[in-house]
Amino acid sequence: MSTHFPGNLFVVAAPSGAGKSSLVNALLAEDSRIQLSVSCTTRAPRGAEVDGVHYVFIDAPEFQRRIDAGEFLEWAEVHGNRYGTSKRWLESRMADGMDVLLEIDWQGAAQVRAQFDNAVSIFILPPSFEELRQRLTRRAEDAPEVIEQRLREARVELAQAKNFDFIIVNQDFTHALRDLRQVVAAQRLRYAAQRLSHPEVFRALGIL
Ligand code: 5GP
Repeated sequence: MSTHFPGNLFVVAAPSGAGKSSLVNALLAEDSRIQLSVSCTTRAPRGAEVDGVHYVFIDAPEFQRRIDAGEFLEWAEVHGNRYGTSKRWLESRMADGMDVLLEIDWQGAAQVRAQFDNAVSIFILPPSFEELRQRLTRRAEDAPEVIEQRLREARVELAQAKNFDFIIVNQDFTHALRDLRQVVAAQRLRYAAQRLSHPEVFRALGIL
């Protein structure tokens, strides 16, 4: 059965190298009303990543235990590691009526859409395949064979864009951030959200 989220639930997905994290971080830095869900993962921390801040890093048996215990709202295997969203954390935010953003892959996005009818899904596109290759190469975080694998996977991921509500082309960061901001702003003007934000206006005007 589908659930209704009282706050806004934003789900952002993209192939790796499309600039998803930079866009999401810029949005969160300027908008204190949105909280980012910190996922659990079985992958090892990279560089300056901090446990509990960027991810909750757990081992494979513990991840499996949490799947079996039904602790994930959604989970998926991405690039050979498992990632999942904590159900309990999201439910507590739901109770507060907070806006929540999930930065997850397309498989997780599909699971969230199936459970929340008012989830807003956003897919970030790179301007071209060539640009994606250049960004992955410039990032210099991964070995050449890993980059090639990510590009192959990107083709599969890009085919999922059609299932998302909004598409943002990240050709120019400033424009893409403006687009993302506008999606968030429009969502907050929906009837259900406005009724929650301005109950006194609705009451005074006799609108049900
Ligand atoms: P990375 O290892 O580069 O941080 O993330 C790899 C991919 O896993 C990204 O597409 C990221 O959005 C996705 N991901 C991160 N957390 C979750 C999660 O909780 N669930 C799902 N389904 N994907 C996630």
